[in-house]
Amino acid sequence: MEIFRTIKSIRSMLDGARLQGKKVGFVPTMGNLHQGHIELIKLAQKTSDIIVCSIFVNGLQFGLHEDWDKYPRTFQADCEKLQAVSCDVLFYPDENQMYPNGLGSQTRVICSSMTEYLCGASRPGHFEGVTTVVSKLLNIIQPDKMILGKKDYQQLAILHRMVEDLCFPVNIVEADIHRETDGLAMSSRNSYLTILERHNAGQLHKSLRWVADKIRLGDRNFTALEKEAIRQIHEAGFKPDYISVCNSKTLEMAETNDADITVLGAMYGSSARLIDNISLN
Ligand code: AMP
Repeated sequence: MEIFRTIKSIRSMLDGARLQGKKVGFVPTMGNLHQGHIELIKLAQKTSDIIVCSIFVNGLQFGLHEDWDKYPRTFQADCEKLQAVSCDVLFYPDENQMYPNGLGSQTRVICSSMTEYLCGASRPGHFEGVTTVVSKLLNIIQPDKMILGKKDYQQLAILHRMVEDLCFPVNIVEADIHRETDGLAMSSRNSYLTILERHNAGQLHKSLRWVADKIRLGDRNFTALEKEAIRQIHEAGFKPDYISVCNSKTLEMAETNDADITVLGAMYGSSARLIDNISLN
């Protein structure tokens, strides 16, 4: 695997690959790779000739009191995992490459829909940081395909919208959520959980599944279902952020006659915020 740390060097290598007719698949990450990330690489390998993974812990998408400084950085282990799955290229820029003029004066990409509610409500500015960094990465890598996980469902929906609105010439490929055996969605932030919290953390998925099953059986009292799921999460020792039955496309509250529904949820442990979702179709 070749590792590139500068925009100039990776651009020049990819220009050469494209001249040879190679299709580029791109997997953006913040590192601390787990099997969920590796499945994204494998999916990329099915449709592209050269796979680029990026690792960049993007300060722009973290709030002031969030976990940017303690976010797990495990470069050596990440490289070994990428090598084991035969990833071709790692782009590993530093802050100076990505934000040479500083974070404060960085030109931003703002998506005006879907960014203010659900995770956006408790993480103001988060999605602006995501759309800005992904725009920059798309301009640097210029991939044919970008592979994103459904685990971050709201992020996925927003990035679909951004790519459409700004005419980025890239196809987004969606990867299913990779889970631990108790249903907990794999996440770098799972390492923040205490032993007891980890033992009970499958509750988020369990409660989302409970809501999804009820809806499948014809229950359309979404508010009551959300309320009960919140109670369950609370009882398991976590602080619920939200449980929302949403239209899968707009991410607005689902109407009772909506066919395409996704149930999204977020909860806090003592030092971790976890998210998950289930789509009914
Ligand atoms: P992250 O490094 O956590 O920012 O995630 C990078 C990419 O991996 C995003 O597209 C995520 O949605 C995806 N991802 C993270 N965890 C999972 C998972 N458990 N299953 C599938 N995709 C995931």
